[in-house]
Amino acid sequence: MKKGGLISLTPRGLYCKTGDFYIDPWKPVKRAVVTHAHADHTYRGNEKYLVPKEGERISRIRIGDEAIIETLPYGKSVDIDGVKVSFHPAGHILGSSQVRIEHNGEVWVISGDYKLTPDATCAPFEPVKCHHFVTEATFGLPIYRWQKTEKTFDEIGDWWRRNQEKGKASVIFAYSLGKAQRIMNGIDRSIGPIFTHGAVERLTQAYRESGVDLPKTTYAGSVENKKDFVGSLIVAPPSAQQSVGWLRKFGSQSTGFASGWMAVRGARRQRAVDRGFVLSDHADWPELLTAISGAEAETVYVTHGFSPEVVRWLNENGQHAVELKTKFVGDDADDTPPEEGEPDGTE
Ligand SMILES: [Zn+2]
Ligand SMILES: [Zn+2]
Repeated sequence: MKKGGLISLTPRGLYCKTGDFYIDPWKPVKRAVVTHAHADHTYRGNEKYLVPKEGERISRIRIGDEAIIETLPYGKSVDIDGVKVSFHPAGHILGSSQVRIEHNGEVWVISGDYKLTPDATCAPFEPVKCHHFVTEATFGLPIYRWQKTEKTFDEIGDWWRRNQEKGKASVIFAYSLGKAQRIMNGIDRSIGPIFTHGAVERLTQAYRESGVDLPKTTYAGSVENKKDFVGSLIVAPPSAQQSVGWLRKFGSQSTGFASGWMAVRGARRQRAVDRGFVLSDHADWPELLTAISGAEAETVYVTHGFSPEVVRWLNENGQHAVELKTKFVGDDADDTPPEEGEPDGTE
């Protein structure tokens, strides 16, 4: 990272000294500007948060009632000690953003997590030109190319229908923030009733209140007659898989897991589920390159995932790129606190 630049990497996270604020800090700070509400970007304990208006409700669930949250709608800017800050859609989950930071003609964009694949549950990714572009590289290898999302929704729907014909429940594991809602928005709602784990239900309600179109769901914990689960779809966070007792109440069942990692050989077996569905909220290889070229940056900073590989590829292809070692840990890390009597939502 360029010495004297507007943004630097510190032990607490990416820092703007001129404006005295951090972007997605992983240790408590006075002022946190946050790209989105996933746990490896939104930590609790900061004095003040600035989040995109569109993600306010889910940020509130994530960081608690007592947190001081200021909001800013996409495309509007705020002045923080002479530094111009604005949020732009990242297409990753509801309210996810890229942060644009400008001072003395120097422009940085920290893209957080993003994807270019259309997603009806959030605003589409918007390319923002800058001098310095910070990108993640979760799926930064040429082997990662997502199939059409509709195809994945069809596969999930077919699996659900077939299970229903056999009198089985379909339990699908998906991250409770973003992925779960995307699946419910996209699948064929006419197949049958949908039940949710508490962590999923709370966030789904916040999505609805934010204006996202979602089918009717019922919190699984509120169901008295276990026969109701026959032929239904149950949406749960991956951690619920560990809770055998919780799963038992759904009776005869088939299990599925929706993740970008399901594109990797052996991932389904490793997860010990009946079916794997490839569905990611991150950019695949072509999307990554499209986003990087769209930023038209002098320097690209690559973090997380396959950053050394992406840096090498970019440098060999005429783009100045540098690896950046942040602590963004995972593909949609998920630490939604559990409901009482329910498995932990931690991922
Ligand atoms: Zn992340
Ligand atoms: Zn994320």
